[in-house]
Amino acid sequence: MLLSLSTTAHPATDLGYLLVKHPDRAHEVELPFGTARVFYPQADENRCTAVLMLDIDPVGLVRGRGDGEGSLSQYVNDRPYVASSFLSVALKRVFGTAMAGTSKGRQEVADSTIPLEAEIPVLRCRGGEELVRNWFEPLGYTVDVERLPLDARFPEWGDSYYVRLRLSGNVRLRDLLTHLYVLLPAIDGDKHYYVGNDEIDKLLEKGGAWLSAHPQREAIVGRYLRRHKPLVRAALARLLDDDEEEIEAQEAKKEALEDAIEKPLSLNDQRMDAVVETLRELGARRVVDLGCGEGRLLARLLKDKQFEHLLGIDVSLRSLDYAAQRLHFDRMPPMQRERIALAHGALTYRDRRIEGFDVACAIEVIEHMDAPRLPAFERALFGFAKPPSVVITTPNSEYNVRFPTLPAGKFRHPDHRFEWTRAEFHSWANGVAERNGYSVQYAPIGVDDPEVGPPTQMAIFTRDAA
Ligand code: SAH
Repeated sequence: MLLSLSTTAHPATDLGYLLVKHPDRAHEVELPFGTARVFYPQADENRCTAVLMLDIDPVGLVRGRGDGEGSLSQYVNDRPYVASSFLSVALKRVFGTAMAGTSKGRQEVADSTIPLEAEIPVLRCRGGEELVRNWFEPLGYTVDVERLPLDARFPEWGDSYYVRLRLSGNVRLRDLLTHLYVLLPAIDGDKHYYVGNDEIDKLLEKGGAWLSAHPQREAIVGRYLRRHKPLVRAALARLLDDDEEEIEAQEAKKEALEDAIEKPLSLNDQRMDAVVETLRELGARRVVDLGCGEGRLLARLLKDKQFEHLLGIDVSLRSLDYAAQRLHFDRMPPMQRERIALAHGALTYRDRRIEGFDVACAIEVIEHMDAPRLPAFERALFGFAKPPSVVITTPNSEYNVRFPTLPAGKFRHPDHRFEWTRAEFHSWANGVAERNGYSVQYAPIGVDDPEVGPPTQMAIFTRDAA
């Protein structure tokens, strides 16, 4: 992970005084998560560049944390390479004096605006280039942001969600450093440490002076505090010197409005309600959610103590990341944390981790598999894991004509490999039940249209007594 800071102020080598790092030497600082090094690829009267290089130990990061579910993403992740909250911690440790705006030999330079540039070669940004521009431009920077390709050798793969960022402007060094300190981890959107109340203090200490006037302050505070609602409200209230209750009331109003618009339409909610109800009726205590995606079902099950143990499996690491966030793994009380696990895996292979559950669910998953892989899925689940009950939902393609915006013959989701009529689903599920010693029942989800049936169809399999 790299950050370079350059100036063309005269003499440019004053940068060494401001950063309290002599340009002729390389500097090394040990941090809890790795090593920070500072060196100067260029240092002359006209231009001086300091590079902060951060070597993060990705294995050291997770070692001894004891919450490993065997997810590869814990070890193989982007953290060593992208600017994130690690960089902020390093900035403060390595350039703390400059960030505070004090300088022994060059106080007048520290207090002046000087031509400065910052370059961050890799920054993860899900919000896109616009977000980066909208966050830095109001602070007086010229922003040059470029989206990086997924793999430069294969342009057809398209772009990644990483960007390269160059900022330039006439600013005080302390301001540049505090802007980076606050905005980089907020753009990245992930924090390597627990976000708690003291985070607000840090944010206000570093951002108080400029954040309250920033047009994007809500978005910045929201992402900085990882959308932890009570913290965000408290921070905005303090930042704007406003009444916290007032802000809370406004937020509640917004949420209610959104609910009112979505509720009657939300098939997803109806589906989750129906599945949770079915699991309750089945008396399930241990549930595995196959293809758990972003953890929507798990989040609901977690609220009900009937469900003592939950496991979510998905092939997509990114979805599992989202799920861990949605479920707030980082601030879950230990008792709760023991009830739930996420694991990376493919459903088309035998997997011992999915054995021993009362019920296995696959909610809107089978249509994401290539039809020729369904027998492998059937074998892994009904042949090997053999849970007492299985709940499977999938779209009912007959209902598609009732979606006004869905062109005829199209699937509801671009990733769907097929969508079945009721007859097609029943024929598959009856076959599965017969081949594996299960009985199967069907239930509609959503309004059961007299002509085309319900939008979603559900099959509930029960293992026959041996
Ligand atoms: N059950 C979730 C997600 C549905 S989207 C919900 O209802 O919200 C389908 C999910 O199945 C995706 O997250 C996808 O990554 C996962 N998936 C598809 N094929 C898979 C396979 N062969 N093995 C594991 N997961 C798979």
